[in-house]
Amino acid sequence: MISKKAQEIPSFIVMDVLEKAQELERAGEQIIHMEVGEPDFDTPECIKEACFRAIREGKTHYTHSLGLIELREAICEDYWEKYRVKVSPDQVLVASGTSPALLLLFSALLEPGEEVILSNPYYPCYPNIIRFVDGSPVFVNVMEEEGFQYLPDMIEEKLRPKVKGIIINSPSNPTGNVMPVGRMKKIANFSSFIISDEIYHGLVYEGEAHSILEFTDRAFVINGFSKLYAMTGWRLGYVIAPEEFIRPMQKIQQNLFISASSFAQWGAVVGLKEAKRDVQRMRETYDQRRRFLIPRLRAMGFGITVEPTGAFYILGNAKRFSQDSYRLAFDILKEARLGVTPGIDFGTNAEGYLRFSYANSVENIVEGMNRLERYIERYR
Ligand code: PMP
Repeated sequence: MISKKAQEIPSFIVMDVLEKAQELERAGEQIIHMEVGEPDFDTPECIKEACFRAIREGKTHYTHSLGLIELREAICEDYWEKYRVKVSPDQVLVASGTSPALLLLFSALLEPGEEVILSNPYYPCYPNIIRFVDGSPVFVNVMEEEGFQYLPDMIEEKLRPKVKGIIINSPSNPTGNVMPVGRMKKIANFSSFIISDEIYHGLVYEGEAHSILEFTDRAFVINGFSKLYAMTGWRLGYVIAPEEFIRPMQKIQQNLFISASSFAQWGAVVGLKEAKRDVQRMRETYDQRRRFLIPRLRAMGFGITVEPTGAFYILGNAKRFSQDSYRLAFDILKEARLGVTPGIDFGTNAEGYLRFSYANSVENIVEGMNRLERYIERYR
């Protein structure tokens, strides 16, 4: 009765951990959440105000299916300011989050059986969406010992005519790794399309992130407001694409989603222009947490060979405690009342690892680490 596609798409395990944690909370337990990749900060005030204003002014209708021209122009200005790349508003499509943007992109890019190269570990939805549109993911292992670097030579080995795209995600979820600019340039020279998920741009604590558009036009940029602007619930993202792909993606958007939320878009226009100080404050706070968390995890025996410098994740090697990250994560949740994400959610190459998100207050992180320390006593 139920379609094969629906049966086959895997769940997002982190959501299973979260839902189990919520069940324990309903039973009266007090859980520390370091599993979900979602800022603990409230959306900056200027963005909320702009949204309230839009609603009061009756800006509550469908927008252009590509997104408000004001927002598309602000996105272009943002890319010019940050990376000195010229993007036309005609190359931008605004969607209800980067997740639908990924669906539109892969729907417009892939014929059945065409391949997309991605790192393993990866952001779980990439292969799931690629398979959902009948494409085929091809994995390149990235190793802890090399700071989870995604190496151009290893990508090159996988290149063949069926490969239509290469996904890069820097700063990366789940590794927190930032790709050095030289590697990005090399990857940009490959003949296939590059899909650069830049959703963690702006959350870089040493050096800086570069946009793929600095090095090639044969690229799609995926970006959104969930992380940098603490707007996960607003559901707003965008894709910057070579112009010939915009109309095809627009047609799919019109049929599947019509347009992104109007007042969320008005909030985002102001966010891009006026939330710089708020963003700066959040970034500094994430960095303080990162600096606290890395040594604390290492002292407990979690392997972090190269310190992650971006996003808000640490992928710690937990193999000395267990080879089964799924069981370990659920056991930590039950016994230590701490939510962490099992590495296996991010691919076979992350089995034996746990992902810690530091998108939580220092007080909660301190308490979470104290609980974890008591929990791992049993392995000593
Ligand atoms: N890409 C990456 C790498 C992510 O970590 C996330 C959120 N976890 C997304 C895309 C999706 O974000 P959203 O749909 O909220 O824009």
